[in-house]
Amino acid sequence: MAETTNSKIATNRPVAPVYLVGAGPGDPELLTLKAYRLLGEADVVVYDRLVGQAILSLVPKGTSRIYVGKAPKGHHMVQEEINNLLVKLARAGRKVVRLKGGDPYIFGRGSEETTFLAQHGVPVRVVPGITAASGCAAAIGVPLTHRGLASGVRFVTGHRERDGALDLNWASLADPDTTLVIYMGASTIEQVSAELIAAGLSATTPTAAVTNGTTPEQKTCVASLGDIGARLKALNLSSPVLIIVGRVVSLADLDLTSGASAAADELSYA
Ligand code: SAH
Repeated sequence: MAETTNSKIATNRPVAPVYLVGAGPGDPELLTLKAYRLLGEADVVVYDRLVGQAILSLVPKGTSRIYVGKAPKGHHMVQEEINNLLVKLARAGRKVVRLKGGDPYIFGRGSEETTFLAQHGVPVRVVPGITAASGCAAAIGVPLTHRGLASGVRFVTGHRERDGALDLNWASLADPDTTLVIYMGASTIEQVSAELIAAGLSATTPTAAVTNGTTPEQKTCVASLGDIGARLKALNLSSPVLIIVGRVVSLADLDLTSGASAAADELSYA
């Protein structure tokens, strides 16, 4: 905190807010108007791996761009460095947009950045984005809730810290009345599906895996919960992959996934 005080004395002016902005799932037309406006006004855009070229091309030419993306294995910049960079840029008087895939507060570590910035005297404004669950579900014609099929939806992460155990409450997740959306789950899907089935969810539960949802590279694989792991392995879909488990997947629009956007290379019911 002493650091904050010093910086305020040194610059003698309040620090402008950092905008933590959701870029949505990939299709640039799914950006909010606010995100679009802020990209046009920023001095510097600090962006993640999930933010694609189509969105970056909306950033004016003269604006600085800093890539701080993290690959699934191997970090380009650790979170602490990103936090420090944002504070440094804000204190230097730059108008900073911190651009994150989807929604910044859904599995985006956005709140860690907010906390760090606030602790260092930098105000933050959060601009929500369309999260991958909404984007991918819409792109394959699946409603996340539907009367009679799913009365609720849960978002979980299938990511394991350093190959540790997946710490999820399988008994509560194995609920046929709730749609389950798994982020970062491609590498653990076999374990996840086995655990869900062991906890009582039917192996025939329809399941969809979507990669690069809402972009021209979108691919979709629909199978039963029991088969999805083997199918995904065989297809070797590139990341990012989002998995949707639940009866609502039976409503997937085959025309949407295979036709209109030339999106799905692979689509079948097991
Ligand atoms: N904050 C982001 C999620 C970040 S975690 C959001 O709200 O969407 C990264 C995970 O998001 C990926 O592993 C994948 O599961 C999912 N994801 C993000 N964009 C995606 C896309 N276009 N298609 C499929 N999955 C996506």
